[in-house]
Amino acid sequence: MAGACYNREPVTPLRLHDSLRNQKVPFEPIEAGKVGMYVCGPTTYAPAHIGHAFSAISFDTIRRGLIFLGYEVRYVRNVTDVDDKIIKRANETGQDPMALSARFTDEYNRDMARFNVMPPTVEPKVSGHIPQIIAVVERLVANGKAYASEGDVYYAVATFPDYGKLSKMDVEKLRAGASDRVDPEDKRKRDPADFALWKAAKPGEPSWESPWGKGRPGWHIECSAMTVTHLGPTFDIHGGGKDLIFPHHENEIAQSQGADGVGTFARYWLHNGFLNFEGEKMSKSLGNVFNCAEIADVVGGEALRFFCVQHHYQSPVEFEVEPVKTTSGETIGVIFRSLEAADRRLNYFYETLHRIDEKLGGNDPGAGAVLPEIESLVSDARNALADNFNTPVVVAAMEKAASTANRLIDQPKGVDKQVVARTLARIAKDLRSTGAALGIFENAPSAYLTERKARLVKKFGIDTAAVDKLIADRATARKDKDFKRADAIRGELEAMRVKMIDSPSGTTWRVDEPT
Ligand SMILES: [Zn+2]
Repeated sequence: MAGACYNREPVTPLRLHDSLRNQKVPFEPIEAGKVGMYVCGPTTYAPAHIGHAFSAISFDTIRRGLIFLGYEVRYVRNVTDVDDKIIKRANETGQDPMALSARFTDEYNRDMARFNVMPPTVEPKVSGHIPQIIAVVERLVANGKAYASEGDVYYAVATFPDYGKLSKMDVEKLRAGASDRVDPEDKRKRDPADFALWKAAKPGEPSWESPWGKGRPGWHIECSAMTVTHLGPTFDIHGGGKDLIFPHHENEIAQSQGADGVGTFARYWLHNGFLNFEGEKMSKSLGNVFNCAEIADVVGGEALRFFCVQHHYQSPVEFEVEPVKTTSGETIGVIFRSLEAADRRLNYFYETLHRIDEKLGGNDPGAGAVLPEIESLVSDARNALADNFNTPVVVAAMEKAASTANRLIDQPKGVDKQVVARTLARIAKDLRSTGAALGIFENAPSAYLTERKARLVKKFGIDTAAVDKLIADRATARKDKDFKRADAIRGELEAMRVKMIDSPSGTTWRVDEPT
């Protein structure tokens, strides 16, 4: 068919780790070159913390990776704006639950933008999908998979033989565990393993009319309604954090396949690894230090993103923080050791891009030979991403290219000038295009370096007016050939963590960080 002849780059075949089959498998999209992808989003009742950011960045990187490999991606990420936690928080603080959740949804999206997370293609909310949710519950009741009980509707787990397949969970054990708990809703269930699809209205809660009386959806059903609405009954990839595998994703499968038949729903399941840090206890005592906005202010949003892509999305990640204690031993803050290290590495790349820009001075060196060692960056990145989105391998290839660039700038001897210029231009171009696949290096280097300097000035409490005055005094001293005074000023500045850079156009300075 002539219409199949798109003017597009061919897609790169891909292998990914599917949690259901628990192995790496070739990815075969339903429609060639296109991917429909669903990721479980936040329940918006509090500010987003680092765990939310980690999951959002992981799946945004997978989305960008797919785009880099030539796929067209339809990316759906929901917002749970009707939920027990939202209602509880709203009642505690005397707010309207819908207004509270709308405010935290806006905040979440603002925070994620600071980590360069792209807005989803569609961002469905529970409150906007009540008829679609009711329709799925009605199909389940009609199929004999669900039953109404005193205004609630429950999924009858015993009617779904595949229950437990994703989480490798034994339903009998689950039943035994559930029957140990005493929960008022258990009286209304036929089987302790059953779960709520629809909950009868309680006073003070948002509710909607339904065939079972006024009520609101249970948590899991929204994702089954949103996927079928925005991606169809069967779609390519479903993602989420490992902590969602049971019961949430298990229940999604039971609901969607119960409604639409065996073989429907997600064809591949991707889960991102846990972030391990001693922050659980600390975040309780310290309040907001692990909130996204706070972290982006302290180390910069791109540093967290860079830290994320330095690790494979599936692996557990150690996140090092060091408590800041008072003399009496009370913890009053933290130092983000892992993020500071990532920030320094990111800075190295931006410094490299900046040096290349300066060296080329806006001149296009044109086509021709480059050093062969740097030619494979883009293809190396493509191969690594096609192998279950192996971003650490991409970062390693970028490190190699950046190191070549710095070597060529510092010691160009023995290499033809034109080859140096072309190689540097090629490295900058390829770092940027592979960077886009990871969501990094998208700022202008000078803007990034200025922003970072301002951050470090604030962090170390450097008095910039005093620095400028000392640099001017030093220039005067040097003009007067008072080198003793000039050296003394240098010493004073170094004590202030200021490192001067002399050039024909004058003296600039940067913050000298401890490593
Ligand atoms: Zn979900």
